[in-house]
Amino acid sequence: MSTSSEHSQKIASQGKILIVDDTPDNLHLLTRMLTRRGYEVRAETTGEMALAAIKQDPPDLILLDICMPQMDGYELCQVLKENTETRDIPVIFISALDEVLDKLRAFDVGGVDYITKPFRIPEVMARVTIHMTLRRLQQQLHEQNELLKQQVSERRMAEKALQAANQELQRLANLDGLTQLANRRRFDEYLEQEWRRLAREQLPLSLILCDVDYFKNYNDTYGHQAGDDCLRTIAMVLQASAKRPADVVARYGGEEFALVLPNTPLEGALQVAEDIRIALKRLKLEHQGSQVATVVTLSLGVATVVPSSNQDSSSLVAEADRALYQAKSEGRDRIIAGDWKRIESEEDLPGTAVF
Ligand code: GH3
Ligand code: MG
Ligand code: MG
Repeated sequence: MSTSSEHSQKIASQGKILIVDDTPDNLHLLTRMLTRRGYEVRAETTGEMALAAIKQDPPDLILLDICMPQMDGYELCQVLKENTETRDIPVIFISALDEVLDKLRAFDVGGVDYITKPFRIPEVMARVTIHMTLRRLQQQLHEQNELLKQQVSERRMAEKALQAANQELQRLANLDGLTQLANRRRFDEYLEQEWRRLAREQLPLSLILCDVDYFKNYNDTYGHQAGDDCLRTIAMVLQASAKRPADVVARYGGEEFALVLPNTPLEGALQVAEDIRIALKRLKLEHQGSQVATVVTLSLGVATVVPSSNQDSSSLVAEADRALYQAKSEGRDRIIAGDWKRIESEEDLPGTAVF
């Protein structure tokens, strides 16, 4: 535990300096001067001892003598620069060697500055101050960079989470809660989008509308809960029959469903409708209240058109709806194809085909 006086000393400290010199006089003089200026000073007399001290508690700056027995200053500096833990500690050489080559070598091994002996205190102080300031600024920059990196990564994570939440929200906004099919909102949007696209490409767009036969009686006979289960089962049958990625199955209303089949001619749409009718019948969902069968059945209206920009998608819905109405009135449990020509020209006779 640190005492309060140690604590206050630490706060007041201008930084930690290690002096490495085998000449005691130099050590004492520098230690005294630097301590007086508010630095925390440690002194070592050999390269080996200095290494151990640096490892234990890395200083902010090292004043390093070159000529020392065993490990000299160059060697010590080289070792420090090779280690990522100590690489950034600035080393100022203090040496009696005054040749250009000595100075060059000092910078070559990674020293930041060079002071010749006999040194003058004001010069040492000025150089120490400048390198301590540089070191502090470098550390601040590094810390700010790290902080910035962290903020950027946190922001990225938040953006991703937001994006995922928005996608989920979008998905839910387009989904029917009971059947998990597309809801009416999504149906309208998708039909309109495909109408415009296929008008540009001049390709057919098909729509199947289907309605459960005598479903009110189903609820009356088996209860509303069973009615909901039945709608979920029908939804699965419809979804399984719409095999292309662009096909969208939607819950159009209570017990009415719609299939948007882009790029699909009438024959293809009729095939899908027939698949649905047969697949549902094969399930043999008991329906005592039906007046047309003993199992749950559907009536289906199919319409196909190559969209044009001077008509809108509601005309296709109206056509499929007319076909569905006809399927109901002709006895239910059947498929009727609307004759598109009928909406193109009012004089055309209503023409439909039963399959
Ligand atoms: P039709 O053969 O002419 O279609 O007769 P229908 O009884 O199916 O037609 P109608 O339009 O008279 O009744 C539809 C019924 O569908 C009314 C309602 O009880 C039921 N229904 C609508 N939505 C739901 C729902 O979400 N869950 C349940 N269980 N029933 C629903
Ligand atoms: Mg209905
Ligand atoms: Mg019905």
